[in-house]
Amino acid sequence: MTLPVDPAENLATLIRCPSVTPMEGGALTALARMLEPLGFTIERPVFSESGTPDVENLYARRSGNGPHLMFAGHTDVVPPGDESAWTHPPFSAAVANGEMYGRGAVDMKGGIACFTAAVARHVQKRGTIKGSVSFVITGDEEGPSINGTGKLLDWAAAKGERWDASIVGEPTNPERLGDMIKIGRRGAISGIVTVNGRQGHSAYPQLADNPVPGLLTLCEALLSPAFDAGTKDFQPTNLEITSVDVGNPAANVIPARATAAFNIRFGDAWTADSLQAEVHNRLDRAARRKKFRKGRTEPIDYDIVWRDRPSHVFLTRDDRLIDALSGSISAVTGRRPGLSTTGGTSDARFIKDHCPVVEFGLVGKTMHMVDERVALADLETLTAIYERFLEDWFG
Ligand SMILES: [Zn+2]
Repeated sequence: MTLPVDPAENLATLIRCPSVTPMEGGALTALARMLEPLGFTIERPVFSESGTPDVENLYARRSGNGPHLMFAGHTDVVPPGDESAWTHPPFSAAVANGEMYGRGAVDMKGGIACFTAAVARHVQKRGTIKGSVSFVITGDEEGPSINGTGKLLDWAAAKGERWDASIVGEPTNPERLGDMIKIGRRGAISGIVTVNGRQGHSAYPQLADNPVPGLLTLCEALLSPAFDAGTKDFQPTNLEITSVDVGNPAANVIPARATAAFNIRFGDAWTADSLQAEVHNRLDRAARRKKFRKGRTEPIDYDIVWRDRPSHVFLTRDDRLIDALSGSISAVTGRRPGLSTTGGTSDARFIKDHCPVVEFGLVGKTMHMVDERVALADLETLTAIYERFLEDWFG
């Protein structure tokens, strides 16, 4: 029986499955075929929720005597965009100048292909693994992330599954393999502030109540002062105003309503709750300011709506996991990776509720771009790093 020891071959097979989110596209079936000969038991739960597409997921487990390691990731990919803009078709896995082209090459079918190859090589060499390995793979990372990793973990945990540590194979390296491990992620909250006024003629402002100056005051209070100066492990909390909308095409009309949307990425100086409370305080205080609102005695009339669920901030403190991974990276690449909490949210936010989690994968430079591609040499290097990690962590 042939084992999936070649990461490039594994990746080509996965890229040729057009699994544009939320379509399975054959990718989970292809992965299951690679894992079965390695002794994995495969389950394929489908999760649903009204208002979102049904999503197929994969849970594969190889049981052994010892600790339980989870590898997590996703086979869904973002759409390729204009396919004619690609040098090689996005689902062809064409190789040119030592690079393999295709949507998902680095984000993140490549990481899955390498970890699968690492497990295959480990099993081939040792005949066994001194513990259990699970693949937690979703088709819902690039979509709404509602019928994916979060539900898959709860589903497995309800069956009694427990994990000791997890690696997520997302592309974490900005420039070169070995740059960066992610050991935590910032939290995120988003809101929309609406200031309510009264419509009227712009030549008779005393008969109207313009909401725009009030909105400017509230936005100023959100932007300043800074929420914090950063902490040991996190960059400073940052608020971006992402939209300001009045929707008023007329030059001589004072509008009735003005809204501003914002997104905050926050570090471990805050929780989602404490930060939302701070935002409410700032707005309440600012609502009493008279700046821009001469002659008005009542406070600014505003509402705030919080969008989506908050993403919670987290930091992994598991020295055995972090040391085994950075030691493996150093041994293979000769470089010491930085330990970072930068960037957007990832499915690690669901995993951290079940076990310590770190993220390490390929170089992310071309992710989501036209001509997404990966150096074949990087596939070999990442496989070697993962294989070394398996030796160390189970050793
Ligand atoms: Zn990804």
